[in-house]
Amino acid sequence: MAKHIFITGGVVSSLGKGLTSAAIGMLLESRGLKVSVQKCDPYINVDPGTMSPFQHGEVYVTEDGAETDLDLGHYERFTHAKLTRESNITTGKIYSSVIERERKGGYLGQTVQVVPHITDEIKEAVLRVAGAGVDVAITEIGGTVGDIESLPFLEAVRQLGLELGRENVLFIHLTLLPYLRASGELKTKPTQHSVGKLREIGIVPDVLICRSEKPVGDDLKAKISLFCNVQRKSVIEEKDVDVSIYEVPLVFVEQGLDELIVKHLALDAPARSIDAWRDLVGILKQPDRTIEIAIVGKYLNLNDAYKSMFEALTHGGIANRSRVRIRKVQAEDVTPESVEGLLAGAHGILVPGGFGERGIEGKIEAVRFARTRKIPYFGLCLGLQVATVEFARNVLGWKDAHSTEFNKDTAHPVIDLMESQRSVENLGGTMRLGAYPCRLKPGSAAHRAYGKDLVHERHRHRFEVNNRYRPDLERKGLVFSGLHRSEKVEEELVEIIELPEHPWFVATQFHPEFRSKPTDAHPLFREFIRAALDHQQGT
Ligand code: GLN
Repeated sequence: MAKHIFITGGVVSSLGKGLTSAAIGMLLESRGLKVSVQKCDPYINVDPGTMSPFQHGEVYVTEDGAETDLDLGHYERFTHAKLTRESNITTGKIYSSVIERERKGGYLGQTVQVVPHITDEIKEAVLRVAGAGVDVAITEIGGTVGDIESLPFLEAVRQLGLELGRENVLFIHLTLLPYLRASGELKTKPTQHSVGKLREIGIVPDVLICRSEKPVGDDLKAKISLFCNVQRKSVIEEKDVDVSIYEVPLVFVEQGLDELIVKHLALDAPARSIDAWRDLVGILKQPDRTIEIAIVGKYLNLNDAYKSMFEALTHGGIANRSRVRIRKVQAEDVTPESVEGLLAGAHGILVPGGFGERGIEGKIEAVRFARTRKIPYFGLCLGLQVATVEFARNVLGWKDAHSTEFNKDTAHPVIDLMESQRSVENLGGTMRLGAYPCRLKPGSAAHRAYGKDLVHERHRHRFEVNNRYRPDLERKGLVFSGLHRSEKVEEELVEIIELPEHPWFVATQFHPEFRSKPTDAHPLFREFIRAALDHQQGT
């Protein structure tokens, strides 16, 4: 039977519970244990797929095509846990399955209630991911203790604590120690209140992880231990890290958090091995070189909207022992007049995924700049679509070429909807989602990067390269170096385009950033950064 760790958050949101959960998963894996990681989100949306990036940040896509919370991205980057649509539970999902069962007569004769029916549904969902071979199932409860909407989740895990037995369950509470500049001290009162609130619900935390901007110190730890009824050694400090989020597991190791968990849950675990992790943090702290990549996008004031992409760039840097500095360029600002000033000096240009017309012309202009100046270019999803449009407009001379997402009446719809997308009515969960196989063209930059013929990459989009225009585009030098063909879709689909005459010009219809790890950079990010380093050397 798997042991369970439940991670709750107190005082404020955005404390980095996802990152903390992921780091704990990584630590347990370093002790030879198999983990599963899961997130409960108390909002009523069935999934975050229909939320704006401004509201929610990135929508992370799993291999099986679920649109999920971005914390799942942290889980996949830090651990080897297999994530599926079961790995993200929301209030919306729980209620819709309970209501569906009620309509079918599944609760015949009963009044359907939050306790026990909603909580039972949550418990089932939590236990489902702790399947065969899992030693420790980590469950992060989104939201902050004290919220109305997270109550059913907290109640469900309280019940699990009772049912599974205290020796099989560990409650970790992540909290904030605010620093008061005026008095120059860290304050513990909000933490005391938040732990009190948890105890009211019936959850007694075993470990407190304290986020703070200053070192916590032994006296304060002793005070927190006394007031919050948590053992002194179980008060863990999580101070803001200096260089990278990948330092977090090492911060925990110093305080023996892995040993604490292993002992509490009576796990039979070998000694830890984290040398590879220490090495990558070492590179981040002392890189050989630094390069600058310009990102031309529209959700740039919020880092979270492109979380996986920023991380994948960091990973590409690690693989080349380099630091990647980011220049954020608002797509709307890019015009034929301003492009030089905004993009000159960047060693690589990247156009990420996106939806909606705002900033499109700026992205197309950025592609033109990268193509004609021979600056390494990497396009992700929409970044492939605008690259195709740019090529059609400026190389083939089809001045009105466009995607029908932005101009329905263009005479040259080089990017268009697949037939099966035309009839879609519901917006939630109906894009082309999840992993599809992609066959690579021998001799292409993509094939060289991956070093294999067939890869599986994750998608989240509706529009595709219009096959009707492929011969014309190809004749002028655009290479379709990755293609998908299967019974899942009605026609062959373009997955990767590239320009062989260019030092590095590669764009993908899929999102490679979802599969990149700090210990194993995605091949396309690794090669993009390598090309950017070459470009820097040459300039
Ligand atoms: N808006 C484009 C589409 O739906 C691209 C989506 C994306 O970049 N993820 O096809």
